[in-house]
Amino acid sequence: SRATLFDGEAKVKITFNDVAGLDEAKEEIQEIVEFLKFPKKFTDLGGKIPKGALLVGPPGTGKTLLAKAVAGEAGVPFFSLSGSDFVEMFVGVGAARVRDLFKQAKEKAPCIIFIDEIDAVGRSRGRGAMPGSNDERENTLNSLLVEMDGFATDSGIIIMAATNRPDVLDSALLRPGRFDRQISIDKPDIIGREAIFKVHLKPLKLAADIDPKELSAQTPGFAGAEIANVCNEAALIAARRSKTAVDMKDFQEAMDRVIGGLEKKNKLIS
Ligand code: ATP
Repeated sequence: SRATLFDGEAKVKITFNDVAGLDEAKEEIQEIVEFLKFPKKFTDLGGKIPKGALLVGPPGTGKTLLAKAVAGEAGVPFFSLSGSDFVEMFVGVGAARVRDLFKQAKEKAPCIIFIDEIDAVGRSRGRGAMPGSNDERENTLNSLLVEMDGFATDSGIIIMAATNRPDVLDSALLRPGRFDRQISIDKPDIIGREAIFKVHLKPLKLAADIDPKELSAQTPGFAGAEIANVCNEAALIAARRSKTAVDMKDFQEAMDRVIGGLEKKNKLIS
């Protein structure tokens, strides 16, 4: 339903404080917060506010979180949908959804539209389509391009999209006036992981032997999503053992579980 696809009514409470690490990306994206809060500052001098920014990086690195934090910082509504929602849709439905989304966003501007997995709709056209087939994905992409061109740069809508496959995107999406800003979101290094652990350890009751530095050292290759997952698993494991605080043993087991899950996923892919 509409309500589950676009959560534009919900007040976003996430801010940059909830996003650990990613200092460079946060700095770049601060500009978008300014555009949303003080558009006149830019347009008075004749500047054109960009319409779109593309967040590029591997799964689970905080792209959605960062886009939500921009909405939270600017105090504007957040409308989101995922490219993968459109993959198996009946003819015309995808294009209609896109139009509907922009219509709602225009009513609520200033606001953010976030499109997760944009590569699912934004693959370059004419690739892999059967000759003569009615490619619904292409229709959806075309309607997205039409909608992006169809609103003024000072309308207060900023579109953020996320992908881990910028290489497959249709070049039309990357043209000036569309997604002309790219922000890269990388997997965290040891310092970044420590900061992410600190965010996700905060709500837990911890034993004295928990050291975020140590946890970070033991989780090379983990993205933020996996770190969040480890913290939650550890709490569940400790609770199952009727402990009063989550200790390092629980974390050890949680990390093993998450690593096991990652290995399984990698096997399925390769
Ligand atoms: P995908 O590409 O799979 O959609 P994503 O890059 O959008 O992933 P998010 O959905 O933002 O990743 O991250 C999932 C969860 O992981 C977040 O809700 C948050 O709990 C945690 N997380 C990820 N990155 C960070 C971070 N930098 N700081 C704090 N938490 C993070």
